[in-house]
Amino acid sequence: MLQQTQVATVVDYFQRWMKRFPTVAALASADEADVLHAWQGLGYYSRARNLQAAARAIQEKHGGRFPTEAEALQALPGVGPYTAAAVATFAFDRPTPPIDGNLSRVTARLLDFTKPVDTAQGLASIREALEEWQPTLEEGGAGMLNEAIMELGALICTPRGPRCTLCPVRLFCHAPDPEALPVRKPRPKTVEMDEHCAWILREGEVLLEQQTGRRWRGMWRLPLLNEPHTGLPLARLRYPFTHHRVNLSVFPGTIPLFLAPAQRWFALDELEQIAMTAPHRKVLKKLLALDEPDGILF
Ligand code: SF4
Repeated sequence: MLQQTQVATVVDYFQRWMKRFPTVAALASADEADVLHAWQGLGYYSRARNLQAAARAIQEKHGGRFPTEAEALQALPGVGPYTAAAVATFAFDRPTPPIDGNLSRVTARLLDFTKPVDTAQGLASIREALEEWQPTLEEGGAGMLNEAIMELGALICTPRGPRCTLCPVRLFCHAPDPEALPVRKPRPKTVEMDEHCAWILREGEVLLEQQTGRRWRGMWRLPLLNEPHTGLPLARLRYPFTHHRVNLSVFPGTIPLFLAPAQRWFALDELEQIAMTAPHRKVLKKLLALDEPDGILF
């Protein structure tokens, strides 16, 4: 849940989630629609699907016991190298440094590493250094070491204004200008995208369509218009999507003679129960709050 999402947002979701799916077995056997509904509002829904797929894999391939090695963890759906390394080291004391912003910044500064840390080569060099510092499983303490470096990065060796005079490892540090490190490759530019959707009501029902893309598969949204619309929208909303900024505009549509396979009419009192992407739910609520939507809302 914490991937791309702040702790303050996650706390309530986590507590509700753990009540609804208290065990791996409960999550593995739940309906996907319930899982998506519990996730609604957190975004990046592939995480919810992957959590359930991972729960099923743990049930089927590991007899319901959580794997302890990073390699086995990484084979679970949705678990990448970072999560696998973090769970293996923090939960099971494995010498697998989870390389995040804090670890790479502290390591780059300690070594005065001046190449970009977010390239494959840079990451490999940072990993190599961190792995050299790890105690073995027999010696123990790898989890503590990795947590300590992470905390050092969060509290002392911060991106701006590192507190070097308080730093417990300053004697080993080679950075002449810590704030210049770590070096990163240039960011991709933000790309503007238009999304034109239709607002179609008939006798207390609204037409929605189910998404098929990888990120929001299974979620409902207002039907996409095949052709870009040039008229005045009923509603507009701008929202971020990876490195895109999406300009969502909703236009009045006409009731179609035939529905596309992914489309369905929903009674208005059903809408709270279905999984929708957050921007579309926001626009839908605004449009439903107006008796006769006929102006630009926001
Ligand atoms: S001495 Fe400064 S730059 Fe070096 S690790 Fe400590 S806080 Fe970071």
